[in-house]
Amino acid sequence: MATIIPAAFVSDVIDGAIVILKESRSGIEAAPLEREFADDATAPASHGIVSAALTGLCDQRAVLEQIAGLQAVHSLQDALSNALARRELSLQYQPIVDRSQKVIGMEALMRWNSTEYGQIPPAQFIPMAERSGAIICLGAWALEESCKQLEKWAGNAKSAAWTLSVNVSAHQFNHWSFVGELVRLVEQYGIAPGRLILEVTESVFLNTEGNRLQGSFQRICDAGVGIAVDDFGTGFSSMGYLRNLSVSRIKIDKIFIDEVVKSKKDQGIVEAIIMLARALEVGVVAEGVETAEQLTYLKSVGCSAFQGFYFGRPSDIAQFL
Ligand code: C2E
Ligand code: CA
Ligand code: CA
Repeated sequence: MATIIPAAFVSDVIDGAIVILKESRSGIEAAPLEREFADDATAPASHGIVSAALTGLCDQRAVLEQIAGLQAVHSLQDALSNALARRELSLQYQPIVDRSQKVIGMEALMRWNSTEYGQIPPAQFIPMAERSGAIICLGAWALEESCKQLEKWAGNAKSAAWTLSVNVSAHQFNHWSFVGELVRLVEQYGIAPGRLILEVTESVFLNTEGNRLQGSFQRICDAGVGIAVDDFGTGFSSMGYLRNLSVSRIKIDKIFIDEVVKSKKDQGIVEAIIMLARALEVGVVAEGVETAEQLTYLKSVGCSAFQGFYFGRPSDIAQFL
């Protein structure tokens, strides 16, 4: 268990962000000061004072390396906050197919090509944007881009019936202005009912007062927008929300698909999710399908839609039209 060491060890070494040094099993560790304690940090010392204070206490170089690591995270966070204005963000699209492998829709996936750092994977920048709050702007941008894309698709015979799924983080979904803004976009871009689907993870169902959540789901449903539960089975899987909220689709997480051809346990889970979806009359999509064997198995147990590298990787939309 790490303990906080005296105020003399607190320093503002990182672009004004306060770093706190903690004792840990492996010695002394640098970590960003938790926001709620930031106001208590009295008289931050200079970099030099930290270095001096550390002399003889621990491996100074290792601590300074950790501080440099934190500095890099802060710079990346700065770059991310400018990514929208610098037009460094884009969306790629991955097909979702039916049992005959016909494309029935796409999932929009955000990409960040930073001028300073190159391509940064979403698994790295999305959690960072969630922590900093930047996800509100990034998510709003992705939603509007997706609506523009749906408007274009409507005028093309090949894509007119496709759905477009957009990922919405819990933080974004629960923001007071989210549903109103969504309804405005649906009207502005003339999105037909059933075409736009929001993908939310089970974390949306935590930390939100039940009535408010039910109200939001209802307004989204009334606007003709679907809601898919993403990564189903990996988080807080409560049957209560499936019973009370208007969910239109469940996405079976890739972790249950990876070994499904061999693993009896995964087969049990996948078959149970498909039965549940059928009983609730909601769609079901298997994610992360990479082989013909996985597809054959999933079809044999009644899965109706599929997504994965076997059918297509996320690509620029021009690849599909
Ligand atoms: P996700 O929503 O579960 O999206 C599916 C991820 O699985 C994508 O990763 C996709 O490229 C990858 N994938 C799809 N099929 C396969 C497959 O057959 N094999 C393997 N190995 N991977 C497959 P990606 O694009 O790196 O996105 C990662 C996560 O970042 C997404 O997971 C989603 O949680 C988040 N994300 C991406 N775009 C956005 C966005 O616009 N907003 C928010 N809030 N989150 C986003
Ligand atoms: Ca998703
Ligand atoms: Ca997923």
